Amino acid sequence: MSITVGFISEVSKLEQRVALVPETTKKMIKAGWKVIMQAGAGADAGFMDSAYTDCQIVKDAKSVLSSADVFVCVTAPTANIIKQMKNDAIMVGMIAPFADKERFAIANKKNITIFSMELVPRTSRAQSMDALSSQASVAGYKAVLLAAVAAPRFLPMLTTAAGTIRPSQVLVIGAGVAGLQAIATAKRLGAMVMGYDVRPETVEQIQSLGAKFLDLGVQAVGEGGYARDLTDAEKQQQQDALSDYLKKVDILITTAAVPGRPAPRLITEIMAKNLKPGSVVVDLGAEGGGNVALTEAGKTVKQDGVTYIGPVNLAGSLGLHASEMYSRNVWNLLSLMNKDSKFAINWEDDILEGSNITKDGQIVHPMVKPNTAEK
Ligand code: NAD
Repeated sequence: MSITVGFISEVSKLEQRVALVPETTKKMIKAGWKVIMQAGAGADAGFMDSAYTDCQIVKDAKSVLSSADVFVCVTAPTANIIKQMKNDAIMVGMIAPFADKERFAIANKKNITIFSMELVPRTSRAQSMDALSSQASVAGYKAVLLAAVAAPRFLPMLTTAAGTIRPSQVLVIGAGVAGLQAIATAKRLGAMVMGYDVRPETVEQIQSLGAKFLDLGVQAVGEGGYARDLTDAEKQQQQDALSDYLKKVDILITTAAVPGRPAPRLITEIMAKNLKPGSVVVDLGAEGGGNVALTEAGKTVKQDGVTYIGPVNLAGSLGLHASEMYSRNVWNLLSLMNKDSKFAINWEDDILEGSNITKDGQIVHPMVKPNTAEK
């Protein structure tokens, strides 16, 4: 069966990414699929319509949604988008599976099958489909650039006729995908970098990037290789050990997260008083409640000479490369549905099963149930 894959301009004005880049649509067309897109969908990411060779380009989103068998998006689709989709269609994207359940009720009425890129199991086989990782690494990179631009100092050591400049001291807390990319980026810019995480395996990962591990004496390993919430005593120990160190820091990047929980609070208002005037904080946990008490999501605030940046959707601000990586993640997932040029979903596949939220409209994912979407 030949299928039509569709994508449109992302709804949010702050979003520069596009779901499919020309490199991917070419592969789809080579696989015998048709591709329909909204005119200009890739423009913010740097991909003009002329680059989407052999795709059907239509003016409005409605025409795409009503004809695509498989609709691919970057950020969470609104209820209105799902309403306009073809009955029995498939949707693939960063669905935000725990937000706005009304969307699943509409998907239910229309027999829509939804795959969430966020729920792709983080196994070795699924690495090439792991959009959480690809987009987190964009965020980690961009976090350091934001800090570097806001900082009143150089990051590298400089020896000049006007004297020697000391390198900036950067501390990255949370050494998951975003944190490790932040460490690597700060190192490339020449800063002195320390990293900290509660998972012991990160010691080696931090050191392998040429940074030093800041040992605060707290470890908290949870399920599936993730961190767990700290106990009150552990939180206190972590904060006591960290407080003093903050006096040395020029740039603080926080990326700490525990899946399904609000962002762990690492720096209280009292601890923040130890930060030097002129230092810069970039809190990647801002959207989830903040790793740092003084950051506000989507804002840059200054207090006592310290700049607090709480960015939202950093991945969406690096349109071209973030889209290329995301589009490859999507293609690798959709390739699992393409066997011998025939489009078919193998429900035995653990990656497809693990990322599937609704099947023919019914909520099937155990983390998204209970099924409130009755027909
Ligand atoms: P994440 O975004 O959930 O969390 C970011 C980091 O914050 C984690 O490293 C976590 O340990 C740390 N953290 C949580 N609470 C903290 C606290 N109180 N203090 C300091 N640090 C704290 O993590 P992520 O980047 O999505 O990845 C986390 C895990 O997933 C890692 O084990 C990683 O190796 C694994 N992973 C596996 C694969 C794969 O095998 N395909 C791919 C990507 C990630």
